[in-house]
Amino acid sequence: MEKDNHRFETKAIRGQMERTGYREHSAPLFLTSSFTFPTAELMADTFSGQADGIIYSRYSNPNTDELIRKACAMEGAEDGFATASGMAAVFASMAALLKAGDHILASRAVFGSTHQILTELFPRWGITFTYVDPEDIDNWEQHLQSNTRMIVLETPSNPGLALIDLEKAGALARQHRLILNVDNCFATPYLQTPLMYGAHLSVHSGTKWMDGQGRVLGGLVVGDAELIEKVRFFCRHTGPAMSPFNAWVLSKSLETLAVRMDRHCSNALRLASYLEAHPGVLRVSYPHLASHPQYELAKKQMRLGGGIVAFEVQGGAAGGMAFLNRVRLCSLSSNLGDSRTIVTHPASTTHSKLKEEERLAVGIRPGMIRISAGLEHIDDIIGDVEQALGARGG
Ligand SMILES: *Cc1c(COP(=O)(O)O)cnc(C)c1O
Repeated sequence: MEKDNHRFETKAIRGQMERTGYREHSAPLFLTSSFTFPTAELMADTFSGQADGIIYSRYSNPNTDELIRKACAMEGAEDGFATASGMAAVFASMAALLKAGDHILASRAVFGSTHQILTELFPRWGITFTYVDPEDIDNWEQHLQSNTRMIVLETPSNPGLALIDLEKAGALARQHRLILNVDNCFATPYLQTPLMYGAHLSVHSGTKWMDGQGRVLGGLVVGDAELIEKVRFFCRHTGPAMSPFNAWVLSKSLETLAVRMDRHCSNALRLASYLEAHPGVLRVSYPHLASHPQYELAKKQMRLGGGIVAFEVQGGAAGGMAFLNRVRLCSLSSNLGDSRTIVTHPASTTHSKLKEEERLAVGIRPGMIRISAGLEHIDDIIGDVEQALGARGG
């Protein structure tokens, strides 16, 4: 990718594709599955790779190319590929680079569908894994095997907001020549840049903060050029391409990522501080709250604390579900990273397939609520949470 010395916000806005003959100001949308050639010779050269050109939207498209270029510039990545969903990106980032007999060292606190890939799908193809605890990175080394090829992790984790020290993960990967694959969806390229700490791949669900308004699905893998070449080969021939329309939406969304995240994060911090002082709340987890056990690490590797707050209400699972039934403004949804504030009760929804012990091992207590702080006025968000908590006599 071309070197661009502008700052994050400028790259997000000015990393637009070249204007067409119409000299449009903002990016046009190329809803076309294929592209034409003026001559047979140029067509042959494009197919052989001697000439640059766009052939077919499963391979590439001006809108997906623009999104990838921008995301790479914003995250300091050499190259990238865009997929139809975050899970297609997570899956491709592993399946494109691993083979039967390989082993993955994975943080126990990974996204639910990532857990399903590791436990239900990969074993069929002879790819095995070992789970390690996110907070215990100093002991990860002892779980490595001679066939370990990749470290897979998410930080901060969902929904417990445990952090993994990226510098230590980078050092471990370097020392043992492993691929470090980080799901950076919760932090976004604005808050955290895993590649800076030695990660080879940074994976995103564009569906969340990146789009930020709950409108489209999409995923991205960015990172080391040689590895991305393999991811691109895998995706071009297996077909999880991102729709040009979704790429157009997401590229537009990146223009406002920094200002949106600033507000999401300040709203989340205000909410977390409010909850921490509330007598009816048992515990609160937010990376940039001084009471977070990894606060120093959070300050070091995350520009701001992110848009997610986790907290625990009294009354266990029934208390958590009762809280959800009382909110009026906030939405009950399993999604996150929306302009609308969302409340989720992980134990009865996103993580209900896990056994109770498995949930507790990743910090999901029965009364835990996850809030994705939206962009409504913070006083309105807190007002809604307050009435939902207060009705229980707190
Ligand atoms: C949502 C999410 C995914 C999956 O993304 P989709 O776009 O829903 O496929 C992966 N990882 C994390 C951390 C997520 O929050």
